[in-house]
Amino acid sequence: MKKEKICPKCEKGKLVTTDDIISEIEGYIFVEKGERCSNCSEEFIPEQEGKKMIEIAKRLGLWGEPLKLYRKLSRSARGIILRIPTDIEKCLHLKGDENVALSKVGNKIVVEISS
Ligand SMILES: [Zn+2]
Repeated sequence: MKKEKICPKCEKGKLVTTDDIISEIEGYIFVEKGERCSNCSEEFIPEQEGKKMIEIAKRLGLWGEPLKLYRKLSRSARGIILRIPTDIEKCLHLKGDENVALSKVGNKIVVEISS
């Protein structure tokens, strides 16, 4: 029989295997396997699972780069304008005549460059 693991945080609850631990990186939701305490609900992600999440985040370009850039919107007669920061322009090799798809994800606006 498998030995029960006791939660190292509260030292009361048992660690139960779960596959629905949710982490958020830059607005993206990652679901991981791990263990959750039956008493204090503290979640433990094994190192291997954590590494997997970082790998995926890297592949999506969400890891290791300064991602949050703050810009102010401005208004013209025809609507609200968002200027794309030069770093992103260079990084994505934008020419400035691309078509983009805008979508609303929660309170975020996602801009996809269609090629
Ligand atoms: Zn606990």
